[in-house]
Amino acid sequence: MPTESAPQKYEISPELVQSLTDNLKKLGTPGYNQELVVQFLAEKYLSDVGYALNLLTYREPLPIYDILRTMGGLLSADRTNKGQYFLGALDVSGIQDFVYNISSDRALRSLRGRSLFLELLSQVVLRDLLKVAGCSEDCLLVQNGGYYLFLLPCDKIEELRKNLERVINLWNRRLLLLQEGRIFLAFAMSASPVTVQEFLNKPGDGYSDAISSIGRELALRKRQKFVGMLEPGDLNSFPAILTCPICRRDVNKLVRLVEGEEFCDLCCFCIELGRQSVERGALEIDLQQQGKNYCWKAGSFTLRLGEEKGEWEEPGALRVKLNPREVEDLAGSNFYLNFPVAAGIEDDFNDLAKLSTGWKGLGALRADVDSLGNLIKGSAKYAPVISLASLSRLLNRFFSEYLMQLQQGTLTTNSDTVVNPKIRNFHFIYGGGDDLFVVGAWSDTLEVALDLGRCWRTYTAQNPDATISMGLSLHPSKFPVLAMAQISGEQLERAKSNKVDGRAKNSLSAAFARRPLFWEEVFDGEKPPLQELVQPLHHLLPSGGQDEENARLSRSFLRRMLQADAATHPLIENGGRWKPGLRFAHAPQGKVDYLYLLATSSELKSPETGSPSQHLRDYLRWLHFSSEPPDLSFFLNWLDLLVRQA
Ligand SMILES: [Zn+2]
Repeated sequence: MPTESAPQKYEISPELVQSLTDNLKKLGTPGYNQELVVQFLAEKYLSDVGYALNLLTYREPLPIYDILRTMGGLLSADRTNKGQYFLGALDVSGIQDFVYNISSDRALRSLRGRSLFLELLSQVVLRDLLKVAGCSEDCLLVQNGGYYLFLLPCDKIEELRKNLERVINLWNRRLLLLQEGRIFLAFAMSASPVTVQEFLNKPGDGYSDAISSIGRELALRKRQKFVGMLEPGDLNSFPAILTCPICRRDVNKLVRLVEGEEFCDLCCFCIELGRQSVERGALEIDLQQQGKNYCWKAGSFTLRLGEEKGEWEEPGALRVKLNPREVEDLAGSNFYLNFPVAAGIEDDFNDLAKLSTGWKGLGALRADVDSLGNLIKGSAKYAPVISLASLSRLLNRFFSEYLMQLQQGTLTTNSDTVVNPKIRNFHFIYGGGDDLFVVGAWSDTLEVALDLGRCWRTYTAQNPDATISMGLSLHPSKFPVLAMAQISGEQLERAKSNKVDGRAKNSLSAAFARRPLFWEEVFDGEKPPLQELVQPLHHLLPSGGQDEENARLSRSFLRRMLQADAATHPLIENGGRWKPGLRFAHAPQGKVDYLYLLATSSELKSPETGSPSQHLRDYLRWLHFSSEPPDLSFFLNWLDLLVRQA
């Protein structure tokens, strides 16, 4: 997202003033969409200037950008001059099935574009809805992970409801024909109006009633997907002549992508979106009406979106710039979107697996913000409508801008990364507002998980109510993407269910570790951070897997550590006690404990000084007096995989 500094600090430096002055002069330059430039500049310069209260940190003011934008929305939708509004919501269901449920052969090329397609679809549908309601785009309050909430005017409400439902039904009919019902758009309106006083001051019953009536209505719509939408003759219109090798849809025509590769029109369109996003960082889509057909064109590919019954018109082109950083990036665009794109990464799961250090395999990582509902409730304490818009924008910013910087190794804040920043070989399969699914070289995926948790803690100023959970699983390169999503999803659930005193914590669950890892134990707390143990061990590893023979950390040493770990924990779980200074008594015959291994290993001694590093000595000192054994299964297994031969 185009912001100039981290949300916690805002300094009006001479450079910032100069940059703003220079950019304002660009207003009026031919070739730019002026409204878009104004919106971009407002977001770039006013996102971090605050007024009142910022919810993610509880300490900082509400950004002026969110205040201005929301006020613009309130003015645009107040057509009765009574300061009353309805709320509308759009929920895209079937996202996972659409994005991941595809054959893994050549999947990655299509995967890149699939979540982009869904985002574009949602944006086009939202534009249609807001146009029918006569509202500006500022009315859009929330857009996170396929959920959109927006302001609607209060006049002629029954007529408006009918018109909006007509738009949604038309799109659902198109999606039914296009996707055999995999994607469904659920639309709901609040049962009663909300007043501007409730939106801007303390929320009352009207606000909470509106939010809960929307939740009930959406749930009902999702249970009745496509009810009444089939028309006579539909069954005849699905002739199962050919099957798309990527999405397995039955179609009557396949499109040739290159020599020997033919896919359905939707898969070709998604592949083209993926290609444009990586090569140009921008998308160009023509929205066209051809006779009775409404279609989208990207490059040389055409996607037909159902047969029209007349009256529908949406001519023109959608020129979307992805992740603009400067005004110049907006030349020729009429829309911009913050969406994580991994450029310059191998397009084949096999090649990606080979880029891992040590064991050659894939890592699948899923991450999700915990109890978003509580965060939203927290946001309702004051100026709920602005807070909600601000929270949504901040989450989107984290899951696009920060992630891309972590992937590219260019994150400038929080320079003390767990391991050295570098380009990390993974793809964003899905990243939508408050959750994430990435697949890549397993060692890079694990590193990014650790850094993601650390960045999140900084981003939220360690607000105990804003926590993130992550699940990591490892797979061979031929593993189906859908199964990766399910297995890493199970780990995500394990991380989420691992609460401390009923509260969620920032945590990462990996399939190979005994229990989820909490960020507190990695980075702070009463114990010396585990990072102090991991850093010296990590530095003993061969770099980039190029030099395995010269690795100073041997597998046999790690094996002995793993044995000590495996021998210690069942003893503790069966009522045995870990006694400081008496650990030899607990080690089964022939096996020794951590302390002995760490203290005596020649491998951990610096070749220059002949003694263990300061980090390691600090850790050993803590271990010697500790009243509980460390759980090193996460780090030992991590290191063990890193030193494996290809
Ligand atoms: Zn297909």
